[in-house]
Amino acid sequence: MYKSTKFIFVTGGVLSSLGKGLSAASIGALMECRGLTVTLLKMDPYINVDPGTMNPFQHGEVFVTDDGAETDLDLGHYERFTHAILRQKNNFTTGQIYDAVIQKERRGEYLGETVQVIPHITDEIKDKIRGLGNGVDVAIVEVGGTVGDIESLPFLEAIRQLRVDLGPQNVLYVHLTLLPFVKASGEVKTKPTQHSVKALREVGIQPDILICRTEKKITRDIKEKIALFCNVRPEEVIAAEDVNCIYEVLLNFHYEGLDQKVVELLNIWTRAPRLDEWKSFIQAVKLLSISVTIGIVGKYVNLHESYKSLNEALFAAGVINRAKVNLKFIDSELLTSETMDSEFADVDGILVPGGFGSRGIEGKIKAVRFARENKIPFFGICLGMQMAVVEFARNVCELEGANSTEFNSDTSYPVIHLMDEQRSITDKGGTMRLGAYECLIPENSECHKIYGTTKISERHRHRYEFNPEFRERLEEKGLRAGGISPDGKLIEIVEYVDHPWFIGCQFHPEFKSKPMDSHPLFASYIKASLDYKNRKEQQNELEKKITNGCE
Ligand code: GLN
Repeated sequence: MYKSTKFIFVTGGVLSSLGKGLSAASIGALMECRGLTVTLLKMDPYINVDPGTMNPFQHGEVFVTDDGAETDLDLGHYERFTHAILRQKNNFTTGQIYDAVIQKERRGEYLGETVQVIPHITDEIKDKIRGLGNGVDVAIVEVGGTVGDIESLPFLEAIRQLRVDLGPQNVLYVHLTLLPFVKASGEVKTKPTQHSVKALREVGIQPDILICRTEKKITRDIKEKIALFCNVRPEEVIAAEDVNCIYEVLLNFHYEGLDQKVVELLNIWTRAPRLDEWKSFIQAVKLLSISVTIGIVGKYVNLHESYKSLNEALFAAGVINRAKVNLKFIDSELLTSETMDSEFADVDGILVPGGFGSRGIEGKIKAVRFARENKIPFFGICLGMQMAVVEFARNVCELEGANSTEFNSDTSYPVIHLMDEQRSITDKGGTMRLGAYECLIPENSECHKIYGTTKISERHRHRYEFNPEFRERLEEKGLRAGGISPDGKLIEIVEYVDHPWFIGCQFHPEFKSKPMDSHPLFASYIKASLDYKNRKEQQNELEKKITNGCE
């Protein structure tokens, strides 16, 4: 039987960064709890074809899907909150839409018509949105940008038309706004919400549900006032109070009646929502009684958005180990041999994440050395793994000046080098090794104990690789391959055995970690860091006793 997909469009008003992505992801999670299948889409209003070439300071993390799409970080939220498997088609930008329309025009597909924003750009957007449904019960579409911006107008026009095209029972508009609390008058203000809804109505969209971000609890009166001015019913005004843990958002939405309202308005019959797993997870988060501190040595340390998936992966690994993970961001550019002892004194694990460019490289190499020599659990991800190889080559194998050719193309020991296929490419957009690749795990490795399997699949985003010419020399000294590509050519994981926990992986395991399904590498790393912390504490106790005994 043909089943039509229901569409939920999520727009945002007043300000950016209100949590539209989290709201869309939470709605997805709630629909799944009711037994429905979901998919999600993010429409980004910028002209870049994808975020791959954008500076992380501007855009935050680039999330990579299994099929190798470089996407907006909101897709990371979508995958972590739901079971949807996202692909290239789950994120598009204005740049992609115009690119497609211009190519069609060049091919003569518009048969001499004048090509215009309406209907050609809007039709292209609508086709992409419709193409998304493909048998799922509910497709949740987040419109990037803030209502009132010039650049998101074609998206709004397209979603306005879709309600007419698909019928009102198949399309729902959810609008996210802010209720600021004004200290001077001690009140929560509704005017920005009224204006934002007015701006949406000006482009022909009457929201069905309003989600209102608020610092303070809001009363029924406020909901009634918003309802009156914004042309909805009070129960269609959902309060989204600030939370400590982002996964609480979905539970709060449920307590506010959001999922019930959504299925009612879309006329979907579902089972009662099953929220037990999420509830126990949040409960576990609230009960975390121990803590562990991880030092993250990177370049984008002032912008935590750049390491979104990494932070979430560490958080999830903490929960499974019943520990709160404190993150200490350390700027690799400022790290020197003198500052190292004090910077790392309070960390229980050192992690060097992915990155591009030469800035802060030597600091990262020093951090690896510190972790290796002091037997502090070390996790190197992508660039972090490459720096671990460079460090080991220089300081253990005595290959002086060993480097990655990304940073020194004339090095005598190019332990990390460019893959053959990448050498000829000069174009910066989408030229990397991207997306999911299989990897074989040797049975006698540490990684085999961690993964419990001999075959894994992980996501990549890089140009450079471990140079196999140096494999033997590094393995002789103890830096072994813990993961190899099926053709045997690429070293995907290195592990140093003479150490409590020292692993570097060429891929990004953080993209596959979920809150309730922590990634094995992260779970094992946090466990090792907790063990390290305990050993350190016992050692301190012992030293105290000895000194006291001597007095
Ligand atoms: N710059 C390195 C490369 O391109 C590492 C990339 C990364 O860490 N994602 O290979």
